[in-house]
Amino acid sequence: MRRPGAPSAPGLLIYWFITLFFHFRWYFPSGLSACERGSDMARGHAFAIMTASCTAAAACSGCVPSGTGWAAPYLEDQSPKIAVVMPARAPSISQEFRYNENIAGHEGIDILAPVRTPVIAAADGVVRNSLFEPMYGNRLVIDHGSDAAGRRIVTVYKHLKARIANPGSHVQRGETIALSGNTGALAGGIPHLHFEVHRQAHSQSAGMSPIDPHLVWANGAGRVSCYTPHAQEQPQSDALTYPLACGPLRTPS
Ligand SMILES: [Zn+2]
Repeated sequence: MRRPGAPSAPGLLIYWFITLFFHFRWYFPSGLSACERGSDMARGHAFAIMTASCTAAAACSGCVPSGTGWAAPYLEDQSPKIAVVMPARAPSISQEFRYNENIAGHEGIDILAPVRTPVIAAADGVVRNSLFEPMYGNRLVIDHGSDAAGRRIVTVYKHLKARIANPGSHVQRGETIALSGNTGALAGGIPHLHFEVHRQAHSQSAGMSPIDPHLVWANGAGRVSCYTPHAQEQPQSDALTYPLACGPLRTPS
């Protein structure tokens, strides 16, 4: 017997079908070779394609944009589209946020990263959740408390290879909390970090909604902000830094 309020089995199947459709529609445009898909991605219509012989973004530079300093354009139906400024050494964004009250397409951004790249906390916070589920694989959730307007902010990290930070533990900005991967069916076998930011609409609202991560970078909207370990002043706790280190991509042995 299912719990009152729990989704029915047909309901779950329909949900998964719709979610898969929206994801793989952009991952695998039909009739294109891997490199053609790469150039198609450059025009903003597809996701980075990595074949078995091309498992690191840096190795794909011949057929897809390089592993750092590049951000995919927004899809046409996303609004607003934020002008994104990528530091040259920031791991590339292969898919932008695509979500509003009319579309439920992609509630975060995808950042290309070889499997086992350290994932770092986007701000100080407390680990609220650490779990595995089939669609998004290994997931970690960090609660950053309230922003200056009293709205709670949470960040979510998905498709992880390994979850390192334990639930209930306090983490600091820049601390390694996980290793990136391609777990979960929705990763499509492509190593990347799916990164989400959720925020209360206002301090009194009950629920939280996904927001475009580009709205809350420490250096301002659209300005992807690399974490700087030895900076004299770290950003306010409600301003986020990039969840992967900028610079040469490092993979621990
Ligand atoms: Zn994603």
